[in-house]
Amino acid sequence: MTMSAETPPRGANPAPSRGSAAAKPHARGNHIPLVLYDNYARALREFAPLHADKPVGLYTCGPTVYDYQHIGNYRTFLFEDLLKRVLGWNGYDVLHVMNVTDVGHLTSDADTGEDKMEKGSRRTGKTAWNIAALYTEAFVDDLRALNVIEPDVMPRATAHIPEQIAFIADLEAKGYAYRTSDGIYFDTSRQPDYGYLARLDRAGLDAGRRVDLGEKRNATDFALWKFSPPDAERQMEWDSPWGVGFPGWHIECSAMAERYLGDWFDIHCGGEDHIPVHHTNEIAQTEARSGTRLANFWMHGYFLLEGDAKMAKSAGEFLRLKALVDRGYDPLAYRYLCLTGHYRSQLNFTWDALDAAATGLARMRTAFHALPADASVAPDEGFVARFSAAINDDLNAPRALAIAWEALRGDLAPAVKRATLARFDDVFGFALSTWQPAQEAIPGEVETLARARAAARKAKQWADADRLRGELQNAGYDVEDKPDGYALKRREK
Ligand code: AMP
Ligand code: ZN
Repeated sequence: MTMSAETPPRGANPAPSRGSAAAKPHARGNHIPLVLYDNYARALREFAPLHADKPVGLYTCGPTVYDYQHIGNYRTFLFEDLLKRVLGWNGYDVLHVMNVTDVGHLTSDADTGEDKMEKGSRRTGKTAWNIAALYTEAFVDDLRALNVIEPDVMPRATAHIPEQIAFIADLEAKGYAYRTSDGIYFDTSRQPDYGYLARLDRAGLDAGRRVDLGEKRNATDFALWKFSPPDAERQMEWDSPWGVGFPGWHIECSAMAERYLGDWFDIHCGGEDHIPVHHTNEIAQTEARSGTRLANFWMHGYFLLEGDAKMAKSAGEFLRLKALVDRGYDPLAYRYLCLTGHYRSQLNFTWDALDAAATGLARMRTAFHALPADASVAPDEGFVARFSAAINDDLNAPRALAIAWEALRGDLAPAVKRATLARFDDVFGFALSTWQPAQEAIPGEVETLARARAAARKAKQWADADRLRGELQNAGYDVEDKPDGYALKRREK
């Protein structure tokens, strides 16, 4: 593997290297280094926490709550959950912050068009504040159904307006902001290495877009604060030193990340679409204010496609998790499907692939359930070491799944198999230990026979009771008497 352990190269404005790079002793004691792909360096780098005395700081860009999330969005949230679980596997505590974008994300990433929240409000006939609450709740419900470990903090953009205003005021004081007739913009020409994350060709972009710059000085400049339109009232707007309006989309993440994790923390994640604009601009803002590139690692989940096209809410019809559940799939079958692909490859969604994942999950659950639990038995060390090597190699979940199957199918003692799989499930998140086979519904006439038999026994009418037991057996059920009643069990065929 090619790996760069160094802080990645920078242009004329190198981010200071701060903090200690010493890894805390790994709880699992496997000593297999955790290597992650850092999109900023465009290289695999060995992970070491920046602050030995603090949890690993993880910031993941959260949902824009103008509509339900689609299963593509959940692919990114599942990748981030995998990362968090792998950090846990390596003995790290994690402080996870995920923002909720409830204002400022415009229909075009280029700061034109309408605020998605105001548009969602028109679509639904509800207020922007109501839809924010509704879709945030639906999002959290889906995360739970997918067994995603909930973030420690989920700050809302609208609840952090003062922090964003203070941030913009600081950028203005440092000479990075300028005013146009519709807002306050960030002057990207002030940063020689603006766009390094995405390896943007700025000269090319400027040349190509010169005609539609409007009042912007450079094609890549972006809004920090937008003024409310003079002719229409917005539902979400605030006073500011520059006039009534609302924050741009990127400033919320720089400001809230700084508030909860500081301006130099371990890992920042999002979907691959965030590389050229959103994350590029978060870095620009924080670099201008604090001189850091915000996070030591920048990691991105690659897209879920449908019929080889990007799955997007703006495309109108989109697949929600509920659509899968309505068709009878367990949400964790979707988790299994996501783990069959590496997070740095795009994944094409098909119902056949989901069927295969559902079958894989059902087989794993049934096999696990049949194994005897013995708390005194430890996981198999050889398999644990191979599993660690797979997941610590930039979260290679497909390989980890293959190793789990090898352990299940191999000749380990049954209780060791169970202990090994239970340990792996800390990373997979299939909730194997709590799964139970679905109880088959007992037909009404069988219940009637069983109740009649219980009544006959109570009245000491033994002949009737025996006859009814025979009828139950003919119907395919054994009855077992218990101190507090009886239990029915389907007869083995
Ligand atoms: P949004 O609600 O649009 O702000 O997106 C929430 C998260 O989903 C972001 O991290 C996006 O990058 C990510 N995302 C959007 N579309 C997809 C997709 N088709 N596949 C995977 N992730 C996506
Ligand atoms: Zn963000």
